[in-house]
Amino acid sequence: MAKDIRCFCNTCRNENNHRLLKDETFSQIEKYGKGYEETYWQVYQIVQCSGCDSVSFRLVFASTEDIDPETGTLNEGVYLFPVRDKFDVRLDFSCIPRSTRKVLRETLKAVNNECKILAGIGLRVIVESICAELEIKASNLEKKIDLLIEKGFASIKQGEQLHFLRDLGNKAAHEINEPTNEELSIAYEIIEAMLKVMYEFDERRGSQS
Ligand SMILES: [Zn+2]
Repeated sequence: MAKDIRCFCNTCRNENNHRLLKDETFSQIEKYGKGYEETYWQVYQIVQCSGCDSVSFRLVFASTEDIDPETGTLNEGVYLFPVRDKFDVRLDFSCIPRSTRKVLRETLKAVNNECKILAGIGLRVIVESICAELEIKASNLEKKIDLLIEKGFASIKQGEQLHFLRDLGNKAAHEINEPTNEELSIAYEIIEAMLKVMYEFDERRGSQS
């Protein structure tokens, strides 16, 4: 019986066992002369989540060069389709204004596809977009964030967090500095908390009044 494969399920929002429904393996040998050769292989798999029965595609790829010469461990690359969500998004997107929502969706796509520089820039653009929605105008984002605090849209603490985000976006845009997964995760939590307070809470309160 085929061994279950552990991978994240976007529907169950959990690392689950997946049943292997079908797989095909392809390999090729590349000869470089002087007897040196490298073997590449790809395993194409159709897998099904044991929790919710969602079907997805998994590609595993590696070569003999991916074997650690000291430990003998094989470092395989794995690609999953649909792409798995990196963050546990708990936002009601329908409450968020269209332009901010669009940047947010694109930023999350960048995160999920490991495009970290673009994700860093995207998170900064979300703050710009929030300021635009609130008609906060200034010559740069630093001053706009200060205005958000001054006008009572953000607390001093939230302002500090937004400056962290601005800095992260600036480094990504101007210094081509790739944010770490940890930095992106913190930055996303800041944005999500901000958007929840600004739009989701207002929406709920509006529907109760
Ligand atoms: Zn599932």
